[in-house]
Amino acid sequence: MDVQPLLAGEPSRVGDYRLLARLGKGSMGSVYLARSRGGRTVAVKVVRSDLAEDPQFRERFRREAAISRTVGGFWTAAVVDADPEAEQPWLATEYVPGPTLHQAVAENGPLPEQTVGALAAGLAEALGAIHAADLVHRDLKPANVLIGPDGPRVIDFGISRVMSSSAMTATGTFFGTPGYFSPEQTEGSEVGPASDVFSLGAVLVFAATGHGPFGEDGTVAMLYRVVNSEPEVGDVPASLRPLVAACLAKKPAERPTPTMILDRVGGAGPQGRQWLPAQVTALIDENTTRLQSMDEVVPATPEPQSPRPPTRAYDPVLPEPPVAPPPRQAEAAGPSHPRTASSKPAGAPLVRKDNPGAVFRTGRRSGAVAYAAMVFLLAYGAYASRGAIEIAENARVIFLLGVGCLVLSGVLSLVRALLPGLRLKVNSDGLLVSRVGLSRQIPWNHVSRVGLVGSGKKQTVAVWVAAGTPAPRSTWWHRVRGYHGGTKVFPVGSTGGLWTRRWQAKRMRDALYRYAPRVYDARLL
Ligand code: ADP
Repeated sequence: MDVQPLLAGEPSRVGDYRLLARLGKGSMGSVYLARSRGGRTVAVKVVRSDLAEDPQFRERFRREAAISRTVGGFWTAAVVDADPEAEQPWLATEYVPGPTLHQAVAENGPLPEQTVGALAAGLAEALGAIHAADLVHRDLKPANVLIGPDGPRVIDFGISRVMSSSAMTATGTFFGTPGYFSPEQTEGSEVGPASDVFSLGAVLVFAATGHGPFGEDGTVAMLYRVVNSEPEVGDVPASLRPLVAACLAKKPAERPTPTMILDRVGGAGPQGRQWLPAQVTALIDENTTRLQSMDEVVPATPEPQSPRPPTRAYDPVLPEPPVAPPPRQAEAAGPSHPRTASSKPAGAPLVRKDNPGAVFRTGRRSGAVAYAAMVFLLAYGAYASRGAIEIAENARVIFLLGVGCLVLSGVLSLVRALLPGLRLKVNSDGLLVSRVGLSRQIPWNHVSRVGLVGSGKKQTVAVWVAAGTPAPRSTWWHRVRGYHGGTKVFPVGSTGGLWTRRWQAKRMRDALYRYAPRVYDARLL
């Protein structure tokens, strides 16, 4: 799972669910990892606002969400809640802590024969449950199959239909993933349960070989192949080839039903954790650990004191900072986020400029301008009155030197005031300090602790680097100072009045909390 922190402007709560992170963004909207009030983890899909404004879309969403909630079975991710009336309709499903089939194969290559057999059994049973609820999935593809520790889970059933008949397709956009669509779907003919069986065959070919039965290019030529050419199933293990080929029959009536598939492979269904190869189990374990660490760092936001409004609303980001400081962790030196420098290709920037985050700036200093003005006035006054006061000849040089020093300090102060301010970006990669095209990166995986130190005008962001990592040093454009073994890297309280200072400090604490939950230490002063 590519979990990313919530961005400013994203909701922190949807209905009764507290959002923890973003899981993905699709054609219909964004999917978030969320927690119910009772502590269950769910995936919440929130519909894009432009679609939410389409009354026909809302009507279809209402109908399909209601039907999806009736889908049972073991191998579908259960739809546990939905609100089609919310400002942005949403749907919550049981959270599955595994990668999608697409990710699992992309990262580890094709799956072994036994796993594909188990997948065939699980997915056939899932389709049986979906069809029993009078739904047709319509978009069964590797990205819509999650690999759970105990078996696969199909997601997005019913919802695909909402999208496929939405305004999007009216504009001529091909909805869905062509390589997994049945010939009747590709041609725009009537689609029934057998269409899902075709997609199941294509998904199994992908799982067993790493490519779809008609290629992966998504071109018009591929659409032609889906309708007219024989699928490429030569690489599929011999034991599964006849079944897969039958699913991929061009005529819907010639394909087996889910029950017939289960008759053939039902005995091979997922049994405990043995159904997966070790690398995929490791991916699931990684996700589960990440989820647990998220539990430790995401505090419970207080429930609103006033009674909830009668209609479940889509709340904006809560303006309050986290209520409890996150625990400082011994392993804090490790990456705080899956998208860390270590997972990027060599040569890529450690802290990416284009990775969204919170931006802070030090303003130009009005104090320095006032100082310069005062010094210039003083120097001018002294120089102009040099004739009026009696100065001994040998003291004259000293007098002029003094005036010169005053002018120089005024000029330096003016330069300092006019130099563009320092900019700090806090994102999921780390800290990026920059000024006039120069920049310094401090990635989170080099940081063991970060926080705000000092108070009032002296508030500063300080970092402590991990063992073996050099601490940031002063440069002419970015002065840093030592602080109890750490380094002060960015002033927060130096500009503005009391309220601006407080507001900036609060924004900074929120940003550090959000983007560096593992290393942020809220107890520093
Ligand atoms: P879309 O179809 O709009 O692209 P998806 O429904 O495929 O969006 O979800 C996007 C991502 O969110 C998926 O790739 C998957 O990683 C994650 N996801 C969706 N539903 C779940 C779920 N129930 N459990 C875990 N992860 C999920």
